[in-house]
Amino acid sequence: MLKISEILTSKNMTLSFEFFPPKKVENEKILFDTIDVLKNYKPDFVSVTYGAGGSTKDKTVDWTIKILKEYELNVMMHLTCISSTRNDIDLILEKLKTEGVENILALRGDIPKDFPVEEVRKDFNYAYELVRYIRGKNGFSIGVAGYPEGHLESENLEKDIEYLKIKVESGADFVITQLFFDNRYFFEFLNRATQVGINIPIIPGIMPVLNLSQVQRFVEMCGATVPEKLVKKLDGKTLEDMYKVGIEYAILQCKELIVNNVKGLHFYTLNKYNATKEILEGLGYVTE
Ligand code: FAD
Repeated sequence: MLKISEILTSKNMTLSFEFFPPKKVENEKILFDTIDVLKNYKPDFVSVTYGAGGSTKDKTVDWTIKILKEYELNVMMHLTCISSTRNDIDLILEKLKTEGVENILALRGDIPKDFPVEEVRKDFNYAYELVRYIRGKNGFSIGVAGYPEGHLESENLEKDIEYLKIKVESGADFVITQLFFDNRYFFEFLNRATQVGINIPIIPGIMPVLNLSQVQRFVEMCGATVPEKLVKKLDGKTLEDMYKVGIEYAILQCKELIVNNVKGLHFYTLNKYNATKEILEGLGYVTE
């Protein structure tokens, strides 16, 4: 299997999908069906998220390996460090290496509100420390998170980009961004990154708005904003109409990113294939 850093060197633009490990057994079929459909678009890689505080640790590792072995897709495992010891991380890295997983998205993770203090900040405080630790072990291609509108805890956008630079200097190979709905934020983020000397690929994270109230709750948690013009288009609409508006908007958003030479499109699929499939079709992607 290929390292994402190598793929990014050889291709102008990548396509990737993000999944989460289902908590309930009955939802596993939904994910299998989704991968069955989306794999036909020949993604360059797919990724599997890691539950807050490592809550889905075993499932994340299992799904990562399952996708690699059963679907033969390049896979990237998300790994958070805020509630892990070096030993916890070592065990996971060894397992991934043995199974042939080459790619890791190195994250700090969110600190769950009801977590006891002694359960967090064990050996790592920030993602850059995890990046440095994994780089020291050698062999993995490492991605990190970027925030076009700034991370919720950041003092300001300048500090935010400085901290991203530290992650890059610690050994990151590429950046995947938090979702955003206004490309202006992404382009400004690219400019800030260039100004501080960040020159690794930055891949935008895409999530269509399919349900206004659901997405408003979601963006509150991650610090992104839904543009007023999009809110107006969605307000008062039926679920079916919101879906149509959301897909149309995402297609236009992706088209603008593509003409501006983005390094890839990373879709937050939420384990469903319909929306991503419709967007890809709208962009002219075809299956074999
Ligand atoms: P960091 O880069 O460590 O930043 C955290 C905060 O600390 C920021 O405010 C930053 O500005 C600040 N900071 C960074 N370095 C320093 C420093 N040296 N000194 C002072 N302050 C500093 N969460 C999950 O739990 N599981 C997932 O699978 C997951 N996947 C994600 C995928 C993507 C593409 C993105 C964008 C986010 C994902 N997250 C995931 C969410 C992420 O864990 C949270 O946003 C978390 O709060 C920050 O993680 P980070 O890796 O960006 O942290």
